[in-house]
Amino acid sequence: MADGNGAMPANLVTIVPEGEIAGLMTPEAAFDAVEATFAAMATGAAYNFPVIREAIGHADALYGFKSGFDRDSLAMGLKSGGYWPGNEAKGLTNHQSTVILFDADTGRVKALVGGNLLTALRTAAASAVSIKHLARPDAKVLGMIGAGHQSAFQMRAAASQRRFEKVIGWNYHPEMLSRLEDTASELGLPFEAVSLEDMGAQADVIITITSSFAPQLMADWVNPGTHISCMGTDTKGKQEVEAALLARATVFTDEIAQSVSIGEAQHAIAAGLIAESDIAEIGAVINGTHPGRSSDDEITLFDGTGVGLQDLAVAAKVVELAEAKGVAAHVPF
Ligand code: NAD
Repeated sequence: MADGNGAMPANLVTIVPEGEIAGLMTPEAAFDAVEATFAAMATGAAYNFPVIREAIGHADALYGFKSGFDRDSLAMGLKSGGYWPGNEAKGLTNHQSTVILFDADTGRVKALVGGNLLTALRTAAASAVSIKHLARPDAKVLGMIGAGHQSAFQMRAAASQRRFEKVIGWNYHPEMLSRLEDTASELGLPFEAVSLEDMGAQADVIITITSSFAPQLMADWVNPGTHISCMGTDTKGKQEVEAALLARATVFTDEIAQSVSIGEAQHAIAAGLIAESDIAEIGAVINGTHPGRSSDDEITLFDGTGVGLQDLAVAAKVVELAEAKGVAAHVPF
């Protein structure tokens, strides 16, 4: 309430800079936050606002917002950021993002949180949630398509969900495969570079995490019983797997509206190979309202498009951890 002079009570904004995130957030905490968010989305308690992502005509940058509201956790806010291809030459990360959280009861700004590392952790967590709920329990071979920045996070998160005995990998730029080999070695797993056909023949779980605009993995190459996490396609026009693979598979996603517009399903829908009603939300599997995998021969495919609520959930967790550890900075605002 305003005081006698008309002044409003001070609002303290919590600031968690990018450099603090690594010391606060864990893959396990990201997993729990993302799994709970997907569950809330499937009950209708949480929803994402339409994504905005624009080529702004300056610095070759893509810039936009992902946002939403979760009535269960009261997470409300947005992640703002994008991709600046010239950043690397300046010693900066090309992907830049920041999360702003608001108080759901008053609309006042609550926190400003670095979003770069959180994006990698929440994206890897989404893929791991799909592996937990959809991959065969006896999965032994993990296949990785993509060896960029996100790939190491993806491999580590996947390895926490099944007793993998081997990692196999393929990348459009073979010189980048050392990242996969190094990460597998960190996890104590042997690594082998393979062709895409061999990947389909050997892998029990395949993660695709590339910026490809053309299908890499063909439908006929994939073994029955495989689980595929398609994580790279998050924009109109991108594509990592042949559209026919979605017709062969049972398709799950984080959010159907994004899956059909900016996810891997955009191509299968456009080609008339599947309908929107063929796609299920992973949250329904988490909540037990969809049975998930129904046989050892079924191919399951998770179209992970990346939703704003994932960003809000991990940012809210970081704020909680920063407050608990006494490392949060506060600024009157
Ligand atoms: P990166 O730039 O570090 O790596 C890009 C990867 O794509 C590399 O493996 C590279 O070899 C491969 N690649 C580049 N051009 C290719 C082509 N023409 N054909 C096939 N492969 C090609 O990127 P990153 O940070 O690892 O991100 C990978 C992808 O994941 C991007 O498309 C990014 O937008 C997406 N992403 C998705 C989410 C989500 O929530 N779903 C979140 C973050 C990033």
